Amino acid sequence: MAVDSFRFDGGKTWLDLFSTLGRRYSSEPEERLLSAEALSGWLIAMELSPREAATERDVFLARGLREALRNCTAALLNREPFAEQDDRFIREMLSYREHRTLSAALTLEHFSSPQAVFAEFAEQAIIAWQHPENLSLCAEPDCRRAFRDPSGRRRWCPTPACASRGRVRAFRQNQPQEAHHD
Ligand SMILES: [Zn+2]
Repeated sequence: MAVDSFRFDGGKTWLDLFSTLGRRYSSEPEERLLSAEALSGWLIAMELSPREAATERDVFLARGLREALRNCTAALLNREPFAEQDDRFIREMLSYREHRTLSAALTLEHFSSPQAVFAEFAEQAIIAWQHPENLSLCAEPDCRRAFRDPSGRRRWCPTPACASRGRVRAFRQNQPQEAHHD
């Protein structure tokens, strides 16, 4: 999986995790975290590469956290309670939290493991959930990706295809019915 197929436009790293699954609700969702190598490539592209290499188990955890965070974000925006299993998964990830130190050059040390990066995502999400008014779900029915939207006025996520498909549909719906000349 080429790194350029990943998207980094969610506005926050935890939100970019959602776009590792493309067209989530279509008949052919595109899973981009297909292997430990793909996960490592994504973490490097996010500038969050941990010192330990990602394993197959990390792929399982990354996908699991992605779904749990996505479900909770959608629940929050729909004013529904969190599912118990999502809540449990996120708490489990938080147990890997670690405190990063600053190097002499005032850069943050790398996380030790992929799990520590996932814990960081979970923590970012929980902080962001304090202000759900800054989050939206994409209006495209096969996407419904959560993204940062402080204006509260955006209908589509930053994936260009969503806005263009949505606009084309809206345009067609607003057209008067054409008369048939058979
Ligand atoms: Zn979208």
